[in-house]
Amino acid sequence: MPDIPVWNKCGNRCVMCANTVSFNRGPSARYRLRAQIGRFERYLAGVPAYAKNAGNPAALNLTGGEPAQNPDFLKLLAYFRKRTPGRELALLSNGRRFCDADFAKAALLAGGKPFSVAVPLHGAGPASHDAVTRVPGSFRQTLAGLRNLFAYKRPGQTVEIRLVLHRGSVKNLGPLLRLLLREFSGFGGWRAVALHYELVGRAARGSTALDLGLEASAAAVNACAPLIKKFGEFRLYHFPLCLLKPVLRAKAWVSLPPEDRAYPPACGACAVKGSCVGLTPRGLARFGTAGVRPVEEK
Ligand code: SF4
Repeated sequence: MPDIPVWNKCGNRCVMCANTVSFNRGPSARYRLRAQIGRFERYLAGVPAYAKNAGNPAALNLTGGEPAQNPDFLKLLAYFRKRTPGRELALLSNGRRFCDADFAKAALLAGGKPFSVAVPLHGAGPASHDAVTRVPGSFRQTLAGLRNLFAYKRPGQTVEIRLVLHRGSVKNLGPLLRLLLREFSGFGGWRAVALHYELVGRAARGSTALDLGLEASAAAVNACAPLIKKFGEFRLYHFPLCLLKPVLRAKAWVSLPPEDRAYPPACGACAVKGSCVGLTPRGLARFGTAGVRPVEEK
């Protein structure tokens, strides 16, 4: 099922935002309830209506901007739930609106099951998190939102906490993992995901504050292997297997579609190429193949 941009505005101004400026600054009328329903009904009738992942048989991905800022968000969530029974609704949110306990309860009720909410957390405290979102107070709201989601989620609902690694956040990984273990170890039905940032949207422009190659990103993940082992479920997105310690490779997912993956010539001799996400064409062009080497045995 397709990726659906539920709303084009966002209250955060994240340094690695994957949205373009033109998307965020465009008019919002096409994201309101009636326009969204019209588009989705056309999609269900077989008319091409969405740009990304239309052929994906798995989840209906609800993205933004910040979906929960749409004034029609709860009605839209209930509509998508009703029109896709049994399919996973996968919501990507900055988590801030869920600091309102009543809003969190209403969203979890409307999302039904299966329903997952993915929320990025960028640091273990206000200074480090808010430096990435560039909005003072966002850490406090996002952490409160996560606490509400954990408190009120039901069977069939999953919380995913994302740690997006780039030059401005990679130093936060260890403290962030310790925070998550302290806060949420006692709960079931959740996972943590560490992912290397994508060179799309604003992040594609690059900057010295943002640019980080995969080798340095994977080194930070490898250094945290003892902490990662303590999580019930932990995933790694966008990391080539050869850059990861062997003990972490089973946690790596092929997290990008074929058109966003690139395999340099060295990969031809690799025993695990079939289960490796490789590099991205843009990452290859900007950072080269440093550190990539064939794995000899599965
Ligand atoms: S050599 Fe290529 S295919 Fe093999 S693990 Fe590294 S990036 Fe993946």
